[in-house]
Amino acid sequence: MRKALETSVEEIPGFEVLVCPVCGFYYLHPLRVKVATGVDLTVVDSKGVQVVRGDSSPESKDADAERGVRIILEYVCEQGHHGEIVFQFHKGNVFVEHRPLPPLGEWSVIWRD
Ligand SMILES: [Zn+2]
Repeated sequence: MRKALETSVEEIPGFEVLVCPVCGFYYLHPLRVKVATGVDLTVVDSKGVQVVRGDSSPESKDADAERGVRIILEYVCEQGHHGEIVFQFHKGNVFVEHRPLPPLGEWSVIWRD
């Protein structure tokens, strides 16, 4: 299994790029960012910014259980891999997880709809 967060400096001279946690391909598209506290959930995607107050989403419940913020980057790789890279703050550390998600039919990157 690859690490959740892996980069390459080999593909584009002068830049470090995030690669797919599944296959290592470097064409990775951000679809959505979610920031969950134990109370609220903020979502940024191609539709804009949505803040859900007093949220009871799984993300907020997870954040609350860990007593820290949860920052989630949902991505799709041009090889078809879809998943979430999760940064979970807990007692002074940021834990990094990868959660595979089902393949997508159509998708939009954050800045396009
Ligand atoms: Zn991939």
